[in-house]
Amino acid sequence: MRAPGRGYLILHRYLIALGSNQRHPGHGAPSAILWAALDEIGRHGCRIDAVSPTMRSRPIGPSQRVYSNSAALVSTDLAPRALLGELQAVENSFGRKRQGQRWRSRTLDLDIVLWSGGCWSDEQLTVPHTEFRKRDFVLGPAAGIVPDWRDPITGLTIRQLYHRLAKGLTRPPPPPR
Ligand code: ATP
Ligand code: CA
Ligand code: CA
Repeated sequence: MRAPGRGYLILHRYLIALGSNQRHPGHGAPSAILWAALDEIGRHGCRIDAVSPTMRSRPIGPSQRVYSNSAALVSTDLAPRALLGELQAVENSFGRKRQGQRWRSRTLDLDIVLWSGGCWSDEQLTVPHTEFRKRDFVLGPAAGIVPDWRDPITGLTIRQLYHRLAKGLTRPPPPPR
């Protein structure tokens, strides 16, 4: 299959989780950053096939700022490690700082959640993302675009994982705007 106008072979599909909880001087609020990030991902060898609505979620870890989250389905000829490199370049182009503690506030976080090739594991990258089954802010948006994609580890679809999580969900909803 050839991507329109690009002429590259599409070998892989990925589910990407996007998150932001810090304003960007040029792009503005986190929800605007997520849309701008999708444009940028499209310039890094990926075709964006579907995008979820944006949702707001409470932060995990030390940060106090509310997150905007979304999910995207992308097609590309980039293998998992090459895609991680491109996504990190996009994060960096939005001013993401890599030093310091995990889960600190960030202008942009891009995680590879699922890969059409199944599982990948090395020192830099684990796919499926190890935490995604516990995260409503990943499963909620993902359920809107790829409800039938099956997690290769549990054999459950995104829809099933989301419903299972929603039943036991204890995290409070985010505060109103
Ligand atoms: P979490 O992974 O719990 O969502 P985080 O996104 O805040 O936390 P980061 O600081 O963005 O964590 O990433 C830390 C490292 O995680 C990255 O440098 C990357 O090498 C590694 N990593 C492992 N698996 C993945 C994946 N599936 N997607 C993105 N990064 C991954
Ligand atoms: Ca993350
Ligand atoms: Ca990350």
